[in-house]
Amino acid sequence: MKKGLLIILSGPSGVGKGTIRRYIMDNFDIQLSYSISMTTRPRREKEVEGVDYYFVSNEEFDRNIKENNFLEWEEFVGNRYGTPKDKVEELRNQGKNVFLEIEVNGATEVMNKVKDNRVISFFLMPPNIQALEQRIRRRKTESEAVIQARLNKGKSEMTKANQYDHVILNDDVARASREIVDLINRKLKS
Ligand code: 5GP
Repeated sequence: MKKGLLIILSGPSGVGKGTIRRYIMDNFDIQLSYSISMTTRPRREKEVEGVDYYFVSNEEFDRNIKENNFLEWEEFVGNRYGTPKDKVEELRNQGKNVFLEIEVNGATEVMNKVKDNRVISFFLMPPNIQALEQRIRRRKTESEAVIQARLNKGKSEMTKANQYDHVILNDDVARASREIVDLINRKLKS
């Protein structure tokens, strides 16, 4: 059996990575397994444990680092986020395409670590900074300081877009999703 693809979707906070992922899973006939990350960030009201993230304490996150359980992990604006290693491998070995939704440093680490040529990476770009800010504010989950920190982080992340296989403009969810799915399908056939 062919090993499943590792699909990386990155991009600044508020660009709409989660919306694109859900749109793709709901509207296209493509098999994708979403890799659920572990985080020390407090759960937002609409988020579900074990669906959006595994929400853990700092101590539990430390233990997972010590036990070498992460493919990668990063600190992002005051919280830590990590991709469980064994789960990703297990799914890919079953031929499943694994979808990672992660920030830029973690994505770079994965691209450097995973050398099996069954990886495709996307950077999702907002049409402009205002769109990014609006989305973060609309969530109404972050303090002003965190909003500013996420925006600043996003601006520096955007300078690294050229490290990815494809830069996708999120001007329209359906269009951007279609572009991503077409590129994944092309890669699957190669
Ligand atoms: P949020 O707090 O908005 O859910 O996530 C903050 C940032 O961390 C987003 O860019 C998100 O994609 C990223 N992220 C989520 N999970 C992981 C992970 O496992 N590893 C890394 N490196 N980034 C992650």
